Amino acid sequence: MSARILDGKKLAEEVRAEVRVGVEAFRATHGRPPGLDVVLVGEDPASVLYTRNKEKASNQVGMRGKLHSLPASTTEAQLVKLLGDLNADPAIDGILVQLPLPKTIDAERVLDLVDPQKDVDGFHPVNAGLLALGRRGALVACTPSGCMRLIALAGAKLEGANAVVVGRSNIVGKPMALLLLGANATVTIAHSRTNNLAEVCRRADVLVAAVGKAEMIRGGWIKPGAVVVDVGQNSVALPDGKTKLVGDVAFDEAKEVAGAITPVPGGVGPMTIAMLLANTLEAARRRVSV
Ligand code: NDP
Repeated sequence: MSARILDGKKLAEEVRAEVRVGVEAFRATHGRPPGLDVVLVGEDPASVLYTRNKEKASNQVGMRGKLHSLPASTTEAQLVKLLGDLNADPAIDGILVQLPLPKTIDAERVLDLVDPQKDVDGFHPVNAGLLALGRRGALVACTPSGCMRLIALAGAKLEGANAVVVGRSNIVGKPMALLLLGANATVTIAHSRTNNLAEVCRRADVLVAAVGKAEMIRGGWIKPGAVVVDVGQNSVALPDGKTKLVGDVAFDEAKEVAGAITPVPGGVGPMTIAMLLANTLEAARRRVSV
């Protein structure tokens, strides 16, 4: 049996179309579009590409997207000043500081200075805390909320299901586990010290892999019929010197066992930006309603 492939690109297009409609309505009511400001420090090629894509994507749905590209020599004080200005600007609804920041800057301190109401990445302790407490009003990290949409697309019933999240980072694994818990799944969080990882994974009706190790999760680790969401984005070298993007799951093996699976690329990746746009619209709506 070959698994249903969960098309994140198509689903992301649908989310963007929903956001576009919401943005238009927001503009009609409030006389301005929602605004997303993205802050990049330095010239890390992947970060340059990600931030340009975020700026472009926000403009494509009718928002006012702006990229602040700062040199790698930017001091923490300069970045703090910029964030203060962005926090105070009423036309800005979402602020995103691209990670990683240069080592000379205390990333935790800087991220904590983003106004939680504008924290469209959902990384601020206030938003992480609201999610952990199961309270309303959290801006939820984009990648895990994109994964939830993909799981919904698979038609998986989460209530009472065994969900396993491999990876416990603050930006993916932990919020992912909390979202699954909030949907009444029985959740296991696995990590680098987990014993018998293959066995733990085999119990999963829903398996989310967020590890960063190319094709670590093999087909034999998958429960037949499971929904598999692969967050991993690993660049592997090919014999011809080119590189290829692969996930944390050995896709060709896993698709023969799983009921539904996300591909890499074209699964979780496109959903992350789509959910960033959705978060920005949500942040804008909340800011005008208080
Ligand atoms: P981190 O490096 O922050 O976390 C990785 C997690 O995997 C850690 O909790 C670590 O455990 C765990 N881990 C590492 N090795 C093993 C192992 N051998 N067995 C079990 N668990 C292991 O990564 P992120 O959470 O930031 O990202 C994970 C992956 O997702 C990466 O490939 C990243 O590129 C990708 N990603 C993709 C996004 C997208 O939009 N598609 C967005 C964000 C990330 P421990 O805590 O014990 O060290």
